[in-house]
Amino acid sequence: MTTSVLIIGAGVVGLACARALAKLGLEVVIAEKAKEIATETSSRNSGVIHAGIYYKPKSNKQIQCLSGRKLLYEYCRDFGISFKKTGKLIVASDRAQLSRLLTIKRNAELCSVNLSLISSSEVKALEPELEVAGALLSSETGIVNVRELCDSLLYEAEAHGALLALNTEVTCLNNVGRKVLVQSETMTDKNELEFDYVVNAAGLGAHKLIDIGVDEMLRPTKLFAKGNYFSLSGSAPFAHLVYPVPEKDGLGIHYTLDTIGNAYFGPDVEWVEAPGYQVKPELEVKFRSHIRRYWPGVDDRVLTAAYSGIRPKINGNDFMFHADKNIVSLLGVESPGITSSLSIANSIGKLLIEWSK
Ligand SMILES: Cc1cc2nc3c(=O)[nH]c(=O)nc-3n(C[C@H](O)[C@H](O)[C@H](O)COP(=O)(O)OP(=O)(O)OC[C@H]3O[C@@H](n4cnc5c(N)ncnc54)[C@H](O)[C@@H]3O)c2cc1C
Repeated sequence: MTTSVLIIGAGVVGLACARALAKLGLEVVIAEKAKEIATETSSRNSGVIHAGIYYKPKSNKQIQCLSGRKLLYEYCRDFGISFKKTGKLIVASDRAQLSRLLTIKRNAELCSVNLSLISSSEVKALEPELEVAGALLSSETGIVNVRELCDSLLYEAEAHGALLALNTEVTCLNNVGRKVLVQSETMTDKNELEFDYVVNAAGLGAHKLIDIGVDEMLRPTKLFAKGNYFSLSGSAPFAHLVYPVPEKDGLGIHYTLDTIGNAYFGPDVEWVEAPGYQVKPELEVKFRSHIRRYWPGVDDRVLTAAYSGIRPKINGNDFMFHADKNIVSLLGVESPGITSSLSIANSIGKLLIEWSK
């Protein structure tokens, strides 16, 4: 008899899980409340393939990022997804910040990632417009076209038998005996179906579907950590991604590129009480003051409010796979969730194989 599994959410993580589980021979259904795939956090991010520099060594984020990055580069090559290994510079805007670079380098080494410390003149040779005291060079960092990745993961999942139900919102989950009873709503119907297992990959909505009991670590943070982006007009000034030293709750307003060469700055961290994706044009003043610390040339260029995303943050600040009988919920899958998606999918595959023994 085949084992059935419902995946809630068709973002990059849910789709990667669908592909992995369908390839393992499970009968996979994906329920997505929106009318399209990947319309939430998976389309509102920097699209960076992270090397795995900043995470706590041996944390779930660090483990998944490191193995996910290798799997993702391989996947992009094998399936023709647009990507580029741009490399990344983490810059010290003044001499006082140089010691922070050393701390980042030490942490990266503990995470098995090599960074080279380079002088201000070596930075100039790579990126003439940068005005900094020194930098760390990460050669493993890159960018990926997340939309192409999601389309490809869905195609692969469907090729292995998975079914996608759009406009289908899961409203309630209950472990009943050896099955999970799932209630869902479409635009016209309410349904109740049984599955052997459920993978809750609902991103910002994941915690609403489960009882997280008394574990404070698993609770979402009270405010939403919105990240805004501005687009840069004209030609891209840098070939590498450029990051300042990280700030609390985020990596700092950095420079990133999409795979067709458009340049963006962001995300900042704006704590908001309710989710919403509008970018306030007045944030430009803050953006310019941050960017000027490493690129004075920004003053000659036009910045335009572009888009924003919301980080699904939980108190534990790590990826958490919360298992309750036959339901596994993926909580706190903020950055580096894209980078980690294929590795997370493999972990969930192993878990379900273990459960079904
Ligand atoms: C500002 C920002 C920048 C980022 N930059 C990077 C980066 O550069 N590199 C990187 O690796 N990661 C980055 N990330 C993280 C990455 O974007 C996320 O980790 C990843 O997209 C999460 O994917 P997901 O599938 O878990 O969630 P989502 O993409 O949010 O998908 C969840 C899906 O579930 C659906 N859903 C929700 N509730 C229900 C329900 N009840 N029933 C049915 N469907 C439901 C939603 O509609 C949605 O489609 C960034 C995140 C943010 C916010």
